[in-house]
Amino acid sequence: GNWWQMMPKVELHAHLNGSIRDTTLLELARELGEKGSIVFSDVEQVIMKNDRSLREVFKLFDLIHLITTDHKTVTRITKEVIEDFAAENVVYLELRTTPKRNASIGMSKESYLQAVLEGLMAVKNVDVDFGQEVNEGSTGNSHPTNDVCCLSNKKKIYVRLLLSIDRRESTEAAMETVELALRLKRSGVVGIDLSGNPAIGEWKTFLPALKFAKEEGLSVTLHCGEVPNSQEVHAMLDFIPGRIGHACFLEEDHWRKLKSYKIPVEICLTSNIRTESISSVDVHHFADLYESRHPITLCTDDSGVFSTSLSNEFVLAASTFGIGKKEMYELARDAINFIFGGDGVKEKLEEIFASAAVELE
Ligand code: IMP
Repeated sequence: GNWWQMMPKVELHAHLNGSIRDTTLLELARELGEKGSIVFSDVEQVIMKNDRSLREVFKLFDLIHLITTDHKTVTRITKEVIEDFAAENVVYLELRTTPKRNASIGMSKESYLQAVLEGLMAVKNVDVDFGQEVNEGSTGNSHPTNDVCCLSNKKKIYVRLLLSIDRRESTEAAMETVELALRLKRSGVVGIDLSGNPAIGEWKTFLPALKFAKEEGLSVTLHCGEVPNSQEVHAMLDFIPGRIGHACFLEEDHWRKLKSYKIPVEICLTSNIRTESISSVDVHHFADLYESRHPITLCTDDSGVFSTSLSNEFVLAASTFGIGKKEMYELARDAINFIFGGDGVKEKLEEIFASAAVELE
């Protein structure tokens, strides 16, 4: 295989419903189309994936959610997404998803999350560690169904969860998500994300919930500067989140602040290009941040919606910016410093990268 596939990788910005396999999405859409709940040809277009504006991406998510939001399907897509990341040697995945409520099918934010957790437990061909016991970092804390046999032949992936607050939500709904995250700390939930259509919602609506999350020891990452919004970007940076995602529309003052606070940035190259947030990859802010040694990590964002993979993001960065294999390995490894998982996991990941270094020689 190629180095970008073989290399262990850390994925810190992946939305569950954006990372669904094409084949699965089509299959589910066809079923719903037959039932008459949706128009299949609408979904077919979604799968065609021409370049689309950020605004259109959110319309597309509404459609995906129609297709996926029942407990059984949530479990299935979670299982498959983890298998797919593990297959390309992602060794640590922070998967984020928005807990959803749908009274008509008896879904609460909590039961949605339970369905996600069942997806983690349903993975069989990969050994999944989602920190489901208190003594994170000790060995053998995987769910029993995951290590029945053949451990040595199986790939291992550490998975932690971030619960997303959608910018359409109220303060109360955001607070409910944070409270859920706190209750599920022992099931691998390590943080909170703020995402959704950046043209909607106001920072002050989410701030109380995000503050509360921070006070209670949850890590926070924010979608920041996906559209020009100078005041909001300043307010977000002054919150000093654990990481930010995107950072496409930052101005001089913002960059200065970001760098002085040393807030790590989740870089999503393909996503930014496809949504036309950045005009072409060679002018992407990755270059400046990389050169100035600002903490950054390459991420997929929505591997399904944007037809990419983490391996692809690595080879894209390497070829666009002329970065060698050794430096890309260091970029992948340095992401360990920005994970929201605990010290036990960090040590394990250091070991994994150290032994991979020998093999990659
Ligand atoms: P989910 O949280 O598992 O449903 O994943 C899809 C959701 O993630 C979308 O409905 C958005 O709220 C959020 N999302 C995915 N991609 C982006 C993005 O590029 N910007 C902002 N939010 C996003």
